[in-house]
Amino acid sequence: MREMEEMILSEGEVLPGGILKVGSFLNQQIDTGFLRDMGREIARLYRESGVTKVLTIEASGIAIAAAAAMELGVPMLFAKKHKTSNVDGSVYSTEVHSFTHGTDYTVVVSRDYLLPTDRVLLVDDFLANGAALRGLIALTRQAGAVLVGAAIAIEKAFQHGGDTLRDEGVRVESLAVIESMENGMIAFRR
Ligand code: 5GP
Repeated sequence: MREMEEMILSEGEVLPGGILKVGSFLNQQIDTGFLRDMGREIARLYRESGVTKVLTIEASGIAIAAAAAMELGVPMLFAKKHKTSNVDGSVYSTEVHSFTHGTDYTVVVSRDYLLPTDRVLLVDDFLANGAALRGLIALTRQAGAVLVGAAIAIEKAFQHGGDTLRDEGVRVESLAVIESMENGMIAFRR
């Protein structure tokens, strides 16, 4: 998506440790017109896939997941990071390693909302090593739902999470794929 690349070049800030800051349009302030365009592009890519639910992780995936779900006309569901009691077995749960914080956390989603009959599209803002997506894939598998694929706003290919998942047969579509970010210079895969 050419507009995403342009947005990254004009608004993105390369931080130490391979982190891209996009707080001005995606991660803190949200450019709502552009959010709608992102939702439309994701819906275009997955229109024929019979998606019944869009799944993301709180908090930064929620806006883009909602935009995509709105365009596809299906519910959006987000996995929660806060520990929810599972004494009654009412949630699916898995561990995720956070790339940005360097810690592990538990994500949970209610069994009431993720169903064996669902065809699930995963959406997130960033794809780096792939831990967040793998957490969502684990939840989808626990539910016995069908994984349709993933749609990501910004993939950092130099961390290889996306290509590893593609090699495993997962459909991964990214609106922009950053090949390298060395010395503040951003290069895209086209
Ligand atoms: P992964 O689990 O694929 O290693 O990393 C993806 C998650 O980490 C995303 O949910 C995103 O919130 C966060 N993340 C990874 N890299 C970046 C980055 O460069 N910038 C920002 N803002 N978030 C990132």
